[in-house]
Amino acid sequence: MKNLHLLKLFAMHHQDLVQISQEHGSPIYVYDTHVMQAQYDRLTKAFRGIPQLRINYAVKALSNLSVLKWMHHLGAGLDTVSIQEVQLGLEAGVPAHEIIFTPNGVSLSEIEEVANLGVQINIDNLSILEQFGTAHPNVPVCIRINPHIMAGGNANISVGHIDSKFGISIHQIPLVLRIVENTSMHINGVHMHTGSDILDIDVFLHAAEILFDTAHHFTNLDFLDFGSGFKVPYKPGDNETNIEELGEKLTDRFNAFCKDYGKEVVLAFEPGKFLVSESGYFLTSVNSVKQTTSTVFAQVNSGFNHLIRPMLYGADHRIENISNPEGRERFYSVVGYICETDTFANNLKISEINEGDVLCFYNAGAYCFSMASNYNSRYRPAEVLWHEGKAHVIRKAERFEDLIQNQKVLSFDAVEV
Ligand SMILES: *Cc1c(COP(=O)(O)O)cnc(C)c1O
Repeated sequence: MKNLHLLKLFAMHHQDLVQISQEHGSPIYVYDTHVMQAQYDRLTKAFRGIPQLRINYAVKALSNLSVLKWMHHLGAGLDTVSIQEVQLGLEAGVPAHEIIFTPNGVSLSEIEEVANLGVQINIDNLSILEQFGTAHPNVPVCIRINPHIMAGGNANISVGHIDSKFGISIHQIPLVLRIVENTSMHINGVHMHTGSDILDIDVFLHAAEILFDTAHHFTNLDFLDFGSGFKVPYKPGDNETNIEELGEKLTDRFNAFCKDYGKEVVLAFEPGKFLVSESGYFLTSVNSVKQTTSTVFAQVNSGFNHLIRPMLYGADHRIENISNPEGRERFYSVVGYICETDTFANNLKISEINEGDVLCFYNAGAYCFSMASNYNSRYRPAEVLWHEGKAHVIRKAERFEDLIQNQKVLSFDAVEV
């Protein structure tokens, strides 16, 4: 069970959100630190039977410096996929040894640069493994394997299946062992990240068995990293990963593995969505209510430039009219102001909308702001952190200067020097 008591005690109210939109304008992202904390506590509690548990927050979900700082304050390290995310982590005060670098398809030189900073490297391809091991035999490396397990039903967010570009196939472990022998490099961790939807715990445990089998090939591991893919509900009735059941089952199995292996190793996870999705609210204002012959559109002052998940993944974000929460419900299609189809929701029941009302999108913590762009030359919105009953602006909205600051304007009247 989620710690409902804590959530209720600190939960933001409609009124707080309305007030933030009045004070700071919209569109605007708001994140609640207490929800992140409740999720972090829930995860660590589910795995309390693991002597050495490591939670590395996946920076790409939401990478604001204050959020990284808060995650570290809660006890998390960071999971990063680019050198820039590593630099953000360091900037937020997270020490290099609490950061893991799990990129895909980045250059050898970027990996070397990150290793140089003292960050744990995770390599997911044989060619880079061999080159890195040859050049730096003394730097311990984690390997990302692909257990070829299909998690969830959405092929775009399942990264463990046979044609996936992620990880080293378990069928190629003999090649890994040859590279390790030839270079005498040290493999200190094995890792998998199977996809973004773990709903079937037996499927996950099956993948875990493959990771355990792989681990036995390496004599001196410090950690086993099970990645992430914890699913959170987006609307009432949605399925979510049963973390408590997973915790119970994996804990027993993991502790038995350590006994077998003859060493107590760290169990690591790297959740993004699970920790931040439900902490986020995206507030937009209704520019116009447009009645056509078949549909009533509510057009908000945003689009896929700010929140692309509904269009990219078909994500179903719950939307509420927080200016009129008690109003009579009607059906609306909520769309944006981008000059392209940008439908957030089709024929959704929402309490009666008037122009100027504030619509709140829920689950706006993970992969929302971090995927925002300047398409249509719009500014990326401000971000607010709600902490202990107060709203703190943790990123200002962009301004016109931000759109032009890196451009050099050619003058076509004279020859450029
Ligand atoms: C994106 C990513 C995660 C986080 O996934 P969520 O579904 O947000 O929990 C973890 N590990 C790796 C390697 C990733 O690329």
